[in-house]
Amino acid sequence: MAKIIPLTDVRASARSAQLLAAATAAGGPAAVAAGFVADTLGRPLRDLRISVTDRCNFRCVYCMPKDVFGRDYPFLPHGELLTFEEIARVARVFKAHGVEKIRLTGGEPLLRRNVESLIELLASIGGLDLTLTTNGALLAKKARSLRDAGLTRVTVSLDALDERVFRAMNDVDFPVGRVLDGIDAAAAAGLAPIKINMVVKRGTNDHEIVPLARRFRGSGHIVRFIEYMDVGSTNGWKMDEVLPAAEVVRRIDAELPLVRVDANYAGETAERWRYRDGGGEIGVIASVTQAFCRDCTRARLSTDGKVYTCLFASEGHDLKALLRGGADDAALERAVAAIWGARADRYSELRTAATAARPKVEMSYIGG
Ligand code: SAM
Repeated sequence: MAKIIPLTDVRASARSAQLLAAATAAGGPAAVAAGFVADTLGRPLRDLRISVTDRCNFRCVYCMPKDVFGRDYPFLPHGELLTFEEIARVARVFKAHGVEKIRLTGGEPLLRRNVESLIELLASIGGLDLTLTTNGALLAKKARSLRDAGLTRVTVSLDALDERVFRAMNDVDFPVGRVLDGIDAAAAAGLAPIKINMVVKRGTNDHEIVPLARRFRGSGHIVRFIEYMDVGSTNGWKMDEVLPAAEVVRRIDAELPLVRVDANYAGETAERWRYRDGGGEIGVIASVTQAFCRDCTRARLSTDGKVYTCLFASEGHDLKALLRGGADDAALERAVAAIWGARADRYSELRTAATAARPKVEMSYIGG
């Protein structure tokens, strides 16, 4: 059995630069070899989400509203992006600390040129569940090459089947049929089981819940209904617009009877339900009304190489500075252990109307 190393000598309140300095001073107080790590609440590190670009070809109103992410928005210059080799190196370091699953995201990950080469590099590490979240716009064209590169599964975001509602939500007039074609191509390429994420915004697309469930029932794909969250600072989030996951389940169950299913593993974000008649399963992600911080085992790597230990964080830890400053793998391992060991985040459990207004990094940059 791997041993959990409690990093009691790293203060939870320490700031990023101090942490990294302590970690890189060989033999310093936070120096640990590679190995499983636990944060201040005893949570292990299991998942890494990697944002490969902060750009997107959609302008979803709840994520990258057009009036903020317009023509003049200062997206990261190319030189600030981690290279594929740098990302793969960071991935190896995280794997050494217990990460088993990597999800590529963004922005829109399929916009990153030659993302297949990155997938090949990550697949060559071995022993990782390698998946990707996409809006599906380019998936019909890329599903086969992603699979050939070593991607195991894919999650596709789809907020409505109704053409008018879908085009209004993506706000670039993108037709729903092309995303459905992408889902079919992913299934044909063997990127299964496919998960389909619907962000539910009360009064905008909540009437699409049952049609979406009905459409994919019996397909083998798993639709997951996500509560609209107060990520970032630009989407004008209001609690009134959150439709609780319990209400999602109630509405589907009234037409397509459901029964609760056990989680696949501790820390699974979605609560699972299956159709009583054997038509497959759905999930609900209740990050607002039933926070699951105590099981959160996820770290995030931003497009420019900062590590964030919470989706709702306002500050990250700059690994790129270490990578480009000549740090060896042992120093990177100590840095990651120190960052995770100091982690105390549980934003969703502490959320109030006041915290929602706090400055937070944008999801398109940190990775959804
Ligand atoms: N572009 C890709 C996509 O559309 O799936 C990946 C990035 S996107 C930020 C990842 C996921 O975050 C999507 O499923 C998106 O719907 C979800 N998301 C974005 N903003 C959200 C919010 N405010 N609340 C809940 N989910 C959100």
